[in-house]
Amino acid sequence: MNLGAAPLRVAPGVWGVALATRTLPPWTATNAYLVGTGGVAWLVDPGAGDAEALAALDALVAAAAVRTLKGVLLTHAHEDHVGGVAAAVERFGLDAVLAHPAALPRLPAGLPLRALQGGRRLVAGGAVVDAIATPGHASDHLAFGIAADRARTLVAGDLVAGSGSIWVGTPDGDVAAYLASLERAAAWGPERVAPSHGPPRDDGAAVLDEARRHRLAREAAVWAALADGPARLDALRERVYGPLDHEVADFADRALLAHLAKLMRETRVDHVGAGHEGPYARRAGG
Ligand SMILES: [Zn+2]
Repeated sequence: MNLGAAPLRVAPGVWGVALATRTLPPWTATNAYLVGTGGVAWLVDPGAGDAEALAALDALVAAAAVRTLKGVLLTHAHEDHVGGVAAAVERFGLDAVLAHPAALPRLPAGLPLRALQGGRRLVAGGAVVDAIATPGHASDHLAFGIAADRARTLVAGDLVAGSGSIWVGTPDGDVAAYLASLERAAAWGPERVAPSHGPPRDDGAAVLDEARRHRLAREAAVWAALADGPARLDALRERVYGPLDHEVADFADRALLAHLAKLMRETRVDHVGAGHEGPYARRAGG
């Protein structure tokens, strides 16, 4: 059940639509969601604000029978999630855009911004919306746990994707924080996951566990690539990812650097070079 340009009810209290955005490959769209019940809702991540996107958001509001839009909730300040915020604020006459405190300076000036910390609880009609601090992909990342009609749905942002994996790389990404965020989200107990990219999933615990295992497998691959002695970043990339096109090689390097930063913090790996390209080496006894 992939989200498309037509609005879809994903779960009790959660409606979604896919907006075409400039996002990371392989994705071409970012899902926007309405969360709430009884005609009251928050709009999550309007990632585009062109005429086509605004028409899709109009259709989403109509399909969900929303009469009162309380404002915008942002999962994080990446452009493919916030590109339509100003247009949505104007279109719907909104007076509140809530985002993690670290996201606020990254957002356009002139918006009715308010800080939203993880652990805060909002309501929308009969739905409860829990903001969950989920740094890792981005340091300003929040996910939203929607409890409505006894259903529990995680509007996940870029914590997980509907298929494939989420990019975690330097300078803003943090692998250890990402793993902790997956645990925090799992502890909330989502039955369903509504991601920003790819289809919603009705096996919430499995989606979060897949993401955890994927990240640990990647870490194990980095560790294994250091088995034969010190290696520079480009050699590690070749061993972990194989040959890559130039435009994705930079993303691979930054993901590797995030893994190496975690291994260095854990004193398992040493940086034995001058620049970020290494070499890197296993620490003796590490
Ligand atoms: Zn992102």
